[in-house]
Amino acid sequence: MTSTSSIGIIKNALRNNVSVMRSHLADSTIISAVIKGNAYGHGVRVIVPVLEDIGISHFSVYSSAEAIVAQKAKNKKSTLMIMGFINSNDYEWVIKNEIEFYVSEIDELNKAIKTAKSLSKKAIIHIDVETGMNRTGLSLKELKKSIRILNMNKEFLTIRGVCSHFAGAESIANYTRIKKQFSVFKRRVKLLNQNDIYPELKHIASTAAAINYPETSLDLVRTGILIYGYWPSRETFIFSLQKRKEKTDPLQRALFWNSHVIITKTVPEGEFIGYGMSYQASRQMKIMVIPVGYADGYSRSLSNNGHVLVDGHRSPVIGSVNMNMIICDITDIPDVKIGDKVTLVGEQGDNEISFSSFAEMNQSLNYEILARLPENIERKLI
Ligand SMILES: *Cc1c(COP(=O)(O)O)cnc(C)c1O
Repeated sequence: MTSTSSIGIIKNALRNNVSVMRSHLADSTIISAVIKGNAYGHGVRVIVPVLEDIGISHFSVYSSAEAIVAQKAKNKKSTLMIMGFINSNDYEWVIKNEIEFYVSEIDELNKAIKTAKSLSKKAIIHIDVETGMNRTGLSLKELKKSIRILNMNKEFLTIRGVCSHFAGAESIANYTRIKKQFSVFKRRVKLLNQNDIYPELKHIASTAAAINYPETSLDLVRTGILIYGYWPSRETFIFSLQKRKEKTDPLQRALFWNSHVIITKTVPEGEFIGYGMSYQASRQMKIMVIPVGYADGYSRSLSNNGHVLVDGHRSPVIGSVNMNMIICDITDIPDVKIGDKVTLVGEQGDNEISFSSFAEMNQSLNYEILARLPENIERKLI
């Protein structure tokens, strides 16, 4: 298939980022690579085998639909864990394939047991407990009820884990809430233990928690964003620096996205450029057209706002992002010609366009683009 742009995945960057995470963890702590959202836009089919090659053998997805894709990409030895939604019709497939999954509701627990019975095969579950995020997870009351159900159905279950999720470990503003959640989590684990339930893996930390609250890493951390080369927040980056000798960013962005120039032209001063009146040439300008638009995941919120790299320089997006094209200003980069490489995400010379999940306005827009990169653009492994 020919496409108007191409995405590259850099294996050495992934390898580097995994070892950065490793350096923050005890040797016994398992890294589960979070590959939801098509591996944060990087492409599950490419990412999974590469991470396996780098030494990762535990993967987390959100849903059974994502698990079906990941199952095809992974090797037999790797573990796959569903952290969220399982379609009722998929329980059988999930249990047959020994895919691990969260149980966040009594109803889900009952479905798991019923299916396991009918297949005569144990369901491998992680008990998701509510600790204060108030999103998913068993409340104390539901947990007590579940304990009775678990103990009556032990022959149909492998209780692999007990888990929860922090409500924003990337920001120090949530410090008190995070501390409280962790203490609730420890009490819930104790309650399970007192009732003769000893899950092998206790896990609650994502990337931010593993770095900002290392004591929460426990048996397994579910890390996504950092593996792809981004910090969950600026605070997390700064916190991680305190533990390092070199004060530079140790992460490497694992993805680049390139296209090329299809048209260049000169526009006289005073003319409007593109649809409507959102951009008017304030001087005689030179522009270029790139065949990538919002249909390709290049967010419309980058209208009059984003940048691309061409000929080693930053070139601003002017006017609105169209469905299949953007127009950029090259007035000060006069050597640009048709066919030149354009970097939408990645590096050229000393310049870099990157995405991150930083909460700041522009940065979070960038993150949105990453998650929306279409699945049908080919990912090349570098
Ligand atoms: C997305 C997610 C993670 C990973 O978060 P990162 O900040 O990308 O490390 C961990 N746990 C759960 C439940 C998630 O949904």
